[in-house]
Amino acid sequence: MTDLTRNQELVHKALEQADGPLSAYAILDLLKGDGLRAPLQIYRALEKLVECGMAHRLESLNAWVACSHRHRPGGVAVFAICRDCGDVDEFQDGEVLERLTGRAGERRFAMDHLTVELHGLCKDCNGTGG
Ligand SMILES: [Zn+2]
Ligand SMILES: [Zn+2]
Repeated sequence: MTDLTRNQELVHKALEQADGPLSAYAILDLLKGDGLRAPLQIYRALEKLVECGMAHRLESLNAWVACSHRHRPGGVAVFAICRDCGDVDEFQDGEVLERLTGRAGERRFAMDHLTVELHGLCKDCNGTGG
């Protein structure tokens, strides 16, 4: 387990308890009572949580989610984001990473990270959930 500062722990807990992705300002709002006042404190904590794999940033939503997986090396996190109920389902795919890393390499592009987001309707919202 990674050693977290108090702020990082608070932010992580807020993400874990949330029903869906949270923006930095939503997190700030939740943690005001705990003495966190500056957006920078939140961003710093989020940065660290993402770095150690305990949270992910959803780029298109500019929001963060807690991650409870243990990511395999070489796996990439894929997010299926429901536009109706806001549900975010995370799963992993190794082939996507391999393929895109190869493509990036062909272009001599040095990739920092890769986020894959699928946008649409979850099974409950598209009627196939039963
Ligand atoms: Zn994850
Ligand atoms: Zn949905």
